[in-house]
Amino acid sequence: MSDRTVQHPAPDAGQAFGFADRHIGPGDAERGEMLKAVGYSSAAELMRAALPAGILDPGGNPAALRLPEAAGEQQALGELRGLASRNQVLTSMIGLGYYDTVTPPVILRNILENPAWYTAYTPYQPEISQGRLEALLNFQTMVADLTGLPVAGASLLDEATAAAEAMTLARRASKARSSAFVVDADVFPQTLDVLRTRAEPLGIDIVVADLSKGLPEGDAFGVLAQYPAAGGAVRDLAPLMAAARERGAIAVVAADILALTVLRSPGDMGADIAVGSTQRFGVPMGFGGPHAGYMSVGTALQRQLPGRLVGVSKDSAGRPAYRLALQTREQHIRREKATSNICTAQVLLAVMAGTYAVYHGPAGLRAIAERVHAHTVRLADGLRARGFTVLHDAFFDTLRVRVPAAAAATVDNARRLGVNLLRVGNDTVGISCDEATTDAHVDQVLEAFGGSVRPGAAASGADTSALPADLRRDIDYLDHPVFNTHRSETSLLRYLRRLADKDLALDRTMIPLGSCTMKLNATAEMEAITWPEFAGLHPLAPLDQAAGSVQIVRDLEGWLAEVTGYDAVSLQPNAGSQGELAGLLAIRGYHRHNGETGRDVCLIPSSAHGTNAASAVMAGMRVVVVACDDGGNVDLADLAAKCEKHRDSLAAIMVTYPSTHGVYEDTITEVCRLVHESGGQVYVDGANLNALLGWAKPGAFGADVSHLNLHKTFCIPHGGGGPGVGPVAVREHLSGFLPNHPGQPEAGPYTGVGPVSAAPFGSAGILPISWAYIRMMGEEGLRSATEMAVLGANYIAKRLSGHYPVLYTGAGGLVAHECIIDIRQIAKQTGITNEDVAKRLIDYGFHAPTMSFPVAGTLMVEPTESEDLAELDRFIDAMIAIKGEIDRVADGGYDPADNPLKGAPHTAEALTADTWDHAYTRSEAGYPVPELRQTKYWVPVSRIDQAFGDRNLVCSCPPPEAFEE
Ligand SMILES: *Cc1c(COP(=O)(O)O)cnc(C)c1O
Repeated sequence: MSDRTVQHPAPDAGQAFGFADRHIGPGDAERGEMLKAVGYSSAAELMRAALPAGILDPGGNPAALRLPEAAGEQQALGELRGLASRNQVLTSMIGLGYYDTVTPPVILRNILENPAWYTAYTPYQPEISQGRLEALLNFQTMVADLTGLPVAGASLLDEATAAAEAMTLARRASKARSSAFVVDADVFPQTLDVLRTRAEPLGIDIVVADLSKGLPEGDAFGVLAQYPAAGGAVRDLAPLMAAARERGAIAVVAADILALTVLRSPGDMGADIAVGSTQRFGVPMGFGGPHAGYMSVGTALQRQLPGRLVGVSKDSAGRPAYRLALQTREQHIRREKATSNICTAQVLLAVMAGTYAVYHGPAGLRAIAERVHAHTVRLADGLRARGFTVLHDAFFDTLRVRVPAAAAATVDNARRLGVNLLRVGNDTVGISCDEATTDAHVDQVLEAFGGSVRPGAAASGADTSALPADLRRDIDYLDHPVFNTHRSETSLLRYLRRLADKDLALDRTMIPLGSCTMKLNATAEMEAITWPEFAGLHPLAPLDQAAGSVQIVRDLEGWLAEVTGYDAVSLQPNAGSQGELAGLLAIRGYHRHNGETGRDVCLIPSSAHGTNAASAVMAGMRVVVVACDDGGNVDLADLAAKCEKHRDSLAAIMVTYPSTHGVYEDTITEVCRLVHESGGQVYVDGANLNALLGWAKPGAFGADVSHLNLHKTFCIPHGGGGPGVGPVAVREHLSGFLPNHPGQPEAGPYTGVGPVSAAPFGSAGILPISWAYIRMMGEEGLRSATEMAVLGANYIAKRLSGHYPVLYTGAGGLVAHECIIDIRQIAKQTGITNEDVAKRLIDYGFHAPTMSFPVAGTLMVEPTESEDLAELDRFIDAMIAIKGEIDRVADGGYDPADNPLKGAPHTAEALTADTWDHAYTRSEAGYPVPELRQTKYWVPVSRIDQAFGDRNLVCSCPPPEAFEE
C-alpha cells in the first residue's frame, strides 16, 4: 500500500502540504535518491526486506491503524481549542502539593516556549550542554540552600516518587536491621499511596503513625514526616529527627519549598534527606504535571543519591566546567545495582523552577511566602470570627476547618463561587492559599463558609504571623550572585540567552542519538500546553471541570492501544522507567492473582537498557541475564536453557524490539513462544517503536506488555532530560493490574496495583503534544514516518559502511531505525576512541550519537524521519572527514597524541590565543570542512575532565572567583 508516492494527509485549506510533509524531512525526490542509494525501489519494499515476516500480518502487509483521518495544523489546533473550552478552570485552593503559581512571562516564553531549551537532550555530552548544566546547578543550589542539606540532585519525577526514592535510599543507608518505614499519618495521601505501591514488592512494611505524638515503639530503617503537614500544621521536627537517628533510622522530611523561605530548614532540624516538589516555583499545575521533584541529602549519603547530579569539574584548559557527576550510581552503568531506575527526569521544569528563584531572588521569594501566609492568617481569623474551629494554631498556607456534617455543602458553596476547596471526610474542609491568592479569593471562601462575624470577635489583623517563633528563619539562603543579579528583565533575558547559546539542541543540529529518537517537536504540537485551560487545572479538581483534558487522555489511550495492538493503556507513568515498573508490577500482580507467587525471575538480555534491570529489582524480581550471540541477537539456546532452569520461577522476559542493537531480530516470535511455554510473560520495551509504527504491533506479535516513550516516538520534547511520559500498554489479561489512584477512581482499574506517580493521570499537562502528533499524522503519516526513519538509518549505514564497520545488521544486511558504528578496531589500531570521535563531531557542529550503548566503544546513530537529506549528508560527510583524520593518525601524518581528534573540542579562545603549540593547524582544528565558515557553533569549554569532578565533588554554584584566571 505504500508502494506509491505517499498520499499525505489533508493539508489545511489553501495549503499545498499537510502536516506529515512538514514533520518528515525528506521530500519525494530526496526519498527516491535515498532509496536508490540503499538499493530498493520503494519504502514498502525496503520494509518488507527488513522486517521478519513473523511480525507482519499474514499477507505481509503493514498493520492497519484505525485512527481518525489526519487533520491539518489549524484544524487540530481548532479541535484542541474546543477541548480546552470543555475544561473549567476554577480558583484552586485544594493544596495537597499542588498550588497555583505565576509563571513569570520572561520564563514562560524564553524557557518553556523556547526550542533552544525544550529540544535539548540530556547533558551526557557536557561540553555542548554548559547552559542547561548551569541552570540545573542553580536548581541544585536553590534546593540545597532552602532545605539546609548540601547535596541536591538535578530533579526527580514528582514529590511522591521522590519520597519513595528516599525510602529505598534510607533502606540502603540505614544500619537498622528492620523492614519498617514509619510514615506520619499527616502526609499527602498520594505520597502514602505511592510509598505503598513501591514498598510492597520490596518487602518493606509501611507503618503509619501520628508522629506528632512521637516515634512509635519498634525498630525502623527510616521515618518520613511532612513539613508543614498535609493538614497544614507546622511543627518542630527536631525531636522526631533526633529520636529517629537514635534508633539508627534515616530521617526524611517532605518539605514545601515555598514554606522553607520562612521556616527553619529540614537540615537544620536534623533531617538526613529532604524531598518535595518545586511546582509552585513558577510551574503550572497542568492537571498533575510535569513538575520537578527534588531530593537533597547530607554529604554522608551523596554517593547513594538517586537520579542525576550536576557537578563542577574542569576542562583541559583548567576552566571550571559543569558535567553530570557520580554517574556510576546510575542505571545506565550499574544496572540492577543502581541507586534507582531513573533515567529521564524533569530537567525543563527544574530549569524553570531554578530560574524562578533567579528571577525573584531570596527577598522576592520570601515576600511571596509572606503574602501567602498573610492571606492564610486573614482567612483563619475570618473563620474563627465566624465561629469556626481552625484545627491548628501554627500553619503556613493551609488550614483545616471543622464544619460538622457540612463539609460537602461548604465545598459545593465554594465551587459555586468559583473556588475549589478540599473535602476531608464529612466534617472538615481544607484550604490552601498560594501565590495567586487575592483578597477577593479570601472573601469568596469566607462567603462559602457562611455565618456572620460574632460580636466582639475582632480579627487579629493579617500582619500577625501563625508561624511558631522558634521555627522562623532569616534570609540565610540564595546569597550566590546568580540569585541576586538578574533583577531587571533585560538582565534575565540576556542571561537566559547566554545560557541557551552555549548549548546544542535540535534547533541547531540533528541529534542522532540512538535509542532516544530526537525527532521534530512541532510548534503546533507545543502550542496548547501553555493554554490556561490545560495548564491551570489542579490534578484533584473534580473531573467535570476537566472534561477536555480527560477526553485527551481517553483519545490517547485508545489511539495508543490501536497502534500497539494492546487492549488497555495507562498514561500515569511519568517516564519510561516508571512505565517499566508499572508493566512489571502488572506482571507480578497477574502471577500472584493466579496463585503463582514464586514467579520472580526476570530474564534480561545482556544488551538491554539499564533501566530494565533496575526496574526489575524495584518490582521485587531477580534479574537473570540472557546472552546475545555474535550477531547481537538474543541467544536462543541460552534463552531455552534459562527458561528450563527457571521454569517454576519465571516471571517475565524484558526485550527491546527492534533490539537495542537496532536490528529486527527474526527470532522474536520464537522468544515469545519459549517464554510463554515456561509460564512467563513477555515485556517488550517500546523505546524503539519508531521502527514499527504502522507496520507491526507488539501486542499482535506475541508480547503481553510494553511501555512507550511519548518523549521519543510521540514528539514530547526531551527538555534537556525530561519531562517524559511513559505509558504502559497491556493485553487484556493484565489490564486489571494497571496503575490506579485512590484520589481518582477514573484513573485506573479498581483492582489495580496502586499509583506509580503522584498525579492520577501523570504528566497530563503535556499530553496535548502527543495528541496533536497522532491527530495530524494519521495512519498514513505515522506509517511513512516509520518508513522514513528506517530508510534514513539504512542510508547512513550504507554510506558510512565504506568508512567504518557497521556492527549489526539483520535480514538483507539491513538495520532498523538506528545503526551502530564500531570504533573498537580503530581504537586498537590508532588510539582514537569513540569518545574522540564524539568530541570531534562538536567541532563540526554536531551533537554526538549515543556513546557506548548498547556496546562499549561504539557510536549508535538514529537519524529519525525529521532530518532532511541535506542534514543527513552533512552528518555523513562529517563522519567521513573524521575518518580521514583518523587515517592520518594511522599513517603517521598526525601525531598520535596531539591531533585534532584528541584535542577536540576546540574553543574559540584556544584557536585565537597568541600561542598555538599543537602539531596541527588552527584551521584544521576549527574549520575542517568549508561549510563551517558560514555557520559555526563555538563550544564554550574544551574537553572536560570527568574523573577530577568525581574526586572533588562540588554540586552547587561555584563562587564567581572560580572563573577568574
Ligand atoms: C529511553 C529508554 C528507556 C527509559 O526511558 P526513560 O523515559 O528515560 O526513563 C528504556 N529503555 C530504552 C531502550 C530506552 O531507549
